[in-house]
Amino acid sequence: MAKVTLIAYTPNPEKVIAQAARLCYSPASIENIADGLTDEKIASFVDMLAEIGHESPIEHASFTFGIEGVSRSLLAQITRHRIASYSVQSQRYVTEAHFEYVVPPEIDAIPEARAEFLAAMEEDQLHYEKLTALLKEKHKNALLQSGKDEKTADRSAQKMAIEDARFVLPNACDTKMICTFNARSLFNFFSHRCCNRAQWEIREVAIEMLRLVREVAPNLFRYSGPPCLRGACTEGKMSCGKRNEVRDFFKEIGAD
Ligand SMILES: Cc1cc2nc3c(=O)[nH]c(=O)nc-3n(C[C@H](O)[C@H](O)[C@H](O)COP(=O)(O)OP(=O)(O)OC[C@H]3O[C@@H](n4cnc5c(N)ncnc54)[C@H](O)[C@@H]3O)c2cc1C
Repeated sequence: MAKVTLIAYTPNPEKVIAQAARLCYSPASIENIADGLTDEKIASFVDMLAEIGHESPIEHASFTFGIEGVSRSLLAQITRHRIASYSVQSQRYVTEAHFEYVVPPEIDAIPEARAEFLAAMEEDQLHYEKLTALLKEKHKNALLQSGKDEKTADRSAQKMAIEDARFVLPNACDTKMICTFNARSLFNFFSHRCCNRAQWEIREVAIEMLRLVREVAPNLFRYSGPPCLRGACTEGKMSCGKRNEVRDFFKEIGAD
């Protein structure tokens, strides 16, 4: 089960953005830029930026998330969002002994499909362990012959072995990451990944990320989510056709 945590974020994110926006339009010095910035004025600056599409001041607020219990499949999708920073648990350095995996709900719901899936995971684990053992033996012998001591050879051989053995691991394999997005990049991420067209796993994660940032910056993320919250659906023939349901859903998690 995916777990998303908001680890850190720019303090007073909406105020920082309002200061950046005010700087663009006022002769005030940096020293005085925050003077008189009441909560109402901050909200009004943030709204104004969204309304006129002036998005660069929004880049000054960043949000760092911990995401765990997700598949390598999700990892491939989320890291396509280039305007973000990622640190991901490495399969080169961390041995996947008894690897965890994500079972897609549609597979989970059909007993026969679930049994097939679990059997594939068990088999993958066995192949991984067998490959690790075979590769480790070869590397260790070579390292011992090259003069390495037993402990060093064992440790290095294990690392070299898992580097290649991991190629047999499935997309379902569990992973964890820390990622940092600025708010502008999050707007784009939520537009793509909160949409019903996104795959269920990244959509669940994106919705949870949106819920977390709305708690700390409600004005900033008020209109965030799939494009149909703000106007017509942009998916053309691929539209889910459920705009009203989608709007109701996002209203429940704090959308306007
Ligand atoms: C439903 C769905 C299906 C998808 N299917 C596929 C698929 O079949 N195959 C596939 O490969 N991908 C697929 N993708 C991934 C998609 O094409 C994007 O790579 C991904 O959503 C990241 O979006 P982005 O580029 O806007 O994000 P970011 O990389 O965060 O970029 C943000 C914005 O910065 C600008 N930008 C960034 N880099 C450049 C650049 N080099 N040049 C110009 N502007 C740039 C763009 O305006 C971009 O929107 C799919 C995504 C979704 C949501």
